[in-house]
Amino acid sequence: MARVLIVGAGLTGSLCACLLRREMANKVQIVVWDKSRGSGGRMSTSRSPSDPLCTVDLGAQYISATPYYAQKHHKFYEELLAHGILEPLASLVEGEVMKDQGQKNYVTPSGVSSIVKHFLKHSGAEVLFDHHVTHIYRKGACWEVCPKGRSPEQFNALVLTMPVPQILQLQGDLGSLLEDSQRQQLEAVSYSSRYALGLFYKAEAHIPVPWAAKYISNSPCIRFIAIDNKKRNLESPECGASMVVHTSVPFGIKHLEETKEEVEPIILQELNKLLPHLPQPDSIKCHKWRYSQVTSSVADCPGQMTLLPQPLLVCGGDSFTHSNFDGCIESALMVFDVLKSSL
Ligand SMILES: Cc1cc2nc3c(=O)[nH]c(=O)nc-3n(C[C@H](O)[C@H](O)[C@H](O)COP(=O)(O)OP(=O)(O)OC[C@H]3O[C@@H](n4cnc5c(N)ncnc54)[C@H](O)[C@@H]3O)c2cc1C
Repeated sequence: MARVLIVGAGLTGSLCACLLRREMANKVQIVVWDKSRGSGGRMSTSRSPSDPLCTVDLGAQYISATPYYAQKHHKFYEELLAHGILEPLASLVEGEVMKDQGQKNYVTPSGVSSIVKHFLKHSGAEVLFDHHVTHIYRKGACWEVCPKGRSPEQFNALVLTMPVPQILQLQGDLGSLLEDSQRQQLEAVSYSSRYALGLFYKAEAHIPVPWAAKYISNSPCIRFIAIDNKKRNLESPECGASMVVHTSVPFGIKHLEETKEEVEPIILQELNKLLPHLPQPDSIKCHKWRYSQVTSSVADCPGQMTLLPQPLLVCGGDSFTHSNFDGCIESALMVFDVLKSSL
């Protein structure tokens, strides 16, 4: 059995793990490590500290299927719809720009991380959180992978699915392995940055707006607001509302090196200007997305980059496609093809 380590429990990593299980179960032992305390990556869902039923999606908001990808990835859409993980978006999103005629939008009633959790559950992988990979070394026919503060382990194949700037931060043998052209391709990747604020309300609080989500065009700070439970078709008298606020990218870049504690009151002040009659939230969570969405992906590289064929080291994720559900599916399929042909 080949031992395969997938670094990253986001959508790309979890789908790679699931595809391996579905098509190569008797050939591979699958291990997934993530530096965070839970799965989802940029498809993360946070819970209110006082009410576990009150949740908010801090990263990806909804899944937009263009007719091209709806057809190309139809089996994944059908699987998620059949399990009730995706549902058609039924509420009003103000100011949305439809990029493609015939685009269909879906929401996730249990939060966007439920997509990732679904694929991880069906992968049968050993999934370990709080495993921050810092160094990788080539040891004969294996990769030795070192998670911060823990013992190194050896694997026959290694898949890296984090954003390329985080891949380039890895120490050990990665640097010496890169050809000049690969290094140039990887160093040219760029990401936007933004902050996200999650606001959790008590069950009796009323949010006086007619929409479920709105794109804001007249604020230097805020770009998007969603009443998250309403957007996800979840309005119940027992559960409090939740709201997510995304800042604009220029604001994110301007305040990138400040702390969340410094930036949170600036966003709240702007929110109160835009929506002056909001009730007091029960709690607030501020998150910095240093690597939010890819603005310049790896050129001429369809879905993956193989850095070494034996022992296999392959990179995937939205850095190699584009930043949305279909970009990750595309990359996971390409990474899986490489794994299939080399294991
Ligand atoms: C604010 C925001 C809004 C978005 N809106 C949408 C949307 O509406 N619709 C949509 O489809 N997409 C949206 N996206 C994009 C979408 O979320 C991403 O394209 C997708 O989640 C990327 O998945 P991934 O698995 O490739 O990477 P990630 O989700 O980033 O997963 C990589 C994982 O690797 C882990 N990791 C990183 N470094 C290490 C390390 N050294 N060791 C161990 N683990 C590590 C991270 O913790 C992370 O969990 C949005 C993203 C953001 C941030």
